[in-house]
Amino acid sequence: MRFDILTLFPAIFPGYLGESLLEKGIRRRLVEVHVHDLRNWSRDKHHKVDDRPFGGGPGMVLRVEPVVEGVEEIRGRTRDPGRLILLTPQGKRFDQRYVRELATSNRLILVCGRYEGFDQRIIDILKPEELSIGDFVLNGGEVAAMVVIDAVIRLIPGVLGDATSSIDDSFSREEDWIEFPQYTRPRTYRDHGVPDVLLNGNHEEIAEWRRAHAARRTERLREAE
Ligand code: SAM
Repeated sequence: MRFDILTLFPAIFPGYLGESLLEKGIRRRLVEVHVHDLRNWSRDKHHKVDDRPFGGGPGMVLRVEPVVEGVEEIRGRTRDPGRLILLTPQGKRFDQRYVRELATSNRLILVCGRYEGFDQRIIDILKPEELSIGDFVLNGGEVAAMVVIDAVIRLIPGVLGDATSSIDDSFSREEDWIEFPQYTRPRTYRDHGVPDVLLNGNHEEIAEWRRAHAARRTERLREAE
């Protein structure tokens, strides 16, 4: 799967791309991530891509030309134009169902905003899907882009060491399914032990305990809503 990220801050990404599952996915050629500096499409000699808002007000707005022209050029670089996603706080809320849907694509193009956000004509011209990672405002779309990549790559076959490990993940079976509690060594820590059933080697009993505890957690989530 190929990701293209358009950003004003490409230096944010190398650390994240070089670690853990994503690094392995890239090394095994299951995932490709291309980071593009939006300033490459600036027409300004100082590589500016933002300007003051018409009508006045605080902050700066991302100009239409670098974003539209950057996206058009990047989209045209492969035969598959991919799915174009603008990270915005007013976009469709990201959840596991959305993750599953995105994981069926071969290519995602993620455009990160900054400052006061995008000139509206970027949305009118490119007609992207707008995706929000939650009802709060970040300083930029870069962290949101990482959230999208992080969630989607878990569902790409071969990325997780054990292909079954995403099956029991929270939100994976049903929309509000929560995974059962997990324990590892030591068996006791500060008087807190591990439930005996997990140590007895009886797979049926363990599966039943996990089902019951997952159901309890799921119920608690429903009540909290
Ligand atoms: N003035 C904008 C507003 O009120 O909608 C907020 C702009 S925000 C400071 C700058 C950029 O961060 C946005 O253009 C977007 O790319 C990103 N961003 C902020 N919050 C986000 C969220 N919840 N989900 C996805 N992207 C977000």
